[in-house]
Amino acid sequence: MADDVLPILMPNIEGNGEDSSSDSVPEREREGDDTGDGHEDEQQQQEQQQQEGEDNERKKKKKEKDKKKKKDKRNMNFDQSLPASHTYLGSDHEEYSGRTVLDDESFVNLPLLTLPSVVLIPGQTLPLQLFQPQTISMMRHVIQKDRTFGLVTSRYLDTSGATLANIGTTAEIFSVKEEDEHGIETMRIKAMGRQRFLILETRRQADGIIIGKVRILPEWEMPSGLEGAELRCHRLSNVPETTSAMEVAACGGPAGDRQPVARSRNLKNRYRAADWTWFPPWVYRQYDCDVLMELVKRELYSWNDTLQGSIMPTNPSDFSFWVAASLPLDDGLRLHLLSINSAVQRLRCELSIMQKCTIMCCRDCGSQIAEKKDVFSMSVAGPMAAYVNPGGYVHETLTVYQVTGIMHHGRPSIEHSWFPGYAWTVAECRQCRHHLGWKFTPAKKKLKPEKFWGLCRASLLPGLRSDGGDSEETGWMPTM
Ligand SMILES: [Zn+2]
Repeated sequence: MADDVLPILMPNIEGNGEDSSSDSVPEREREGDDTGDGHEDEQQQQEQQQQEGEDNERKKKKKEKDKKKKKDKRNMNFDQSLPASHTYLGSDHEEYSGRTVLDDESFVNLPLLTLPSVVLIPGQTLPLQLFQPQTISMMRHVIQKDRTFGLVTSRYLDTSGATLANIGTTAEIFSVKEEDEHGIETMRIKAMGRQRFLILETRRQADGIIIGKVRILPEWEMPSGLEGAELRCHRLSNVPETTSAMEVAACGGPAGDRQPVARSRNLKNRYRAADWTWFPPWVYRQYDCDVLMELVKRELYSWNDTLQGSIMPTNPSDFSFWVAASLPLDDGLRLHLLSINSAVQRLRCELSIMQKCTIMCCRDCGSQIAEKKDVFSMSVAGPMAAYVNPGGYVHETLTVYQVTGIMHHGRPSIEHSWFPGYAWTVAECRQCRHHLGWKFTPAKKKLKPEKFWGLCRASLLPGLRSDGGDSEETGWMPTM
């Protein structure tokens, strides 16, 4: 099923059309004008040099000014813990602690909540505002039992109704608030994504609630490819803990770098057993969790330097899920990541996606909306998080410093703002008027950043920047 949901990525986006050859034209023209005497030539040359010097000085100043402007734009004094606590859902919630762990490969019956365009990832927080009496009643039962329900994304492919994905994630409720306003019952919930599951069959109860018979998917820890080839002497002389994985990564990563590089003695020891196998060490590095984690982190830091390593989980599985939840992927790619049972393969797939997809486009018309270098974290949860609006609609929202091709609609409002202190204005695609998200501007003085955008994951498609018009790129698939 994972295959049929894999989308074909956006065709290459046209470059900006800058013609670098234009600089050479005046040069040729100058050569053609070479008819004056030597003195005039010297004078012309001096004037030209002076002009070039002034131009360079001007360019340098502009560059410094732009750099300062960019730095100012990225200053932050906002409390990043506020969005993660979903303060807009109100206070006085009943909190629950403890955790339900379902056995790997076990078969369980779970009440399912279906939400379009929401693919919950383990470790991700899901806020909900529920109004439907059946769903509220379902959640009351869930809270009395083990506080665990299944979340499955639904898609509307045609007029026949919603189609459920065959993979979902268990969600464990940790915070609840029930209210009765003018006879209308409301339930506000915060739940945490826990374990992945495969749906085997579903049935709808008389009250409309869907019960799924599911199999809990395991998280495999892949043994080192060298485990069988390692001799005792290799294990004894293995890498000491002080050797950073970055050092390992620096000596060649999953790109299969076969260039001769200086390798540390420790690194050599780490892959020493490769000499006893058919494959060279670089093959084993491609499946090394530590190396993969450092390469993914390096990729994330290259987006922009505001992403903090301290908010990233240290365990490879948790880290791979955190990355899956933070990337602006469409439902198909996200479900594909959710179907993978090991951190190594998940990280390899993520790295492949991150290296390939450099821009974000409007899902409806394909216009470029943002670049990956503009992505930043407004929340301690990471650059993307799920938020719920007063109507109960959940939007997974990615925060970016800068956008292109967007127009704004209506006046700024602070009502129900997911980022306390900021007012939101609806943002639409300038090309096709599709709703893309919101522009956030400070409602309080001296709040920084001075502006940013929250883009809905459901409205975006990962896109490939054109680097030479390779038409074969349209059929690209992530590496596993
Ligand atoms: Zn559009």
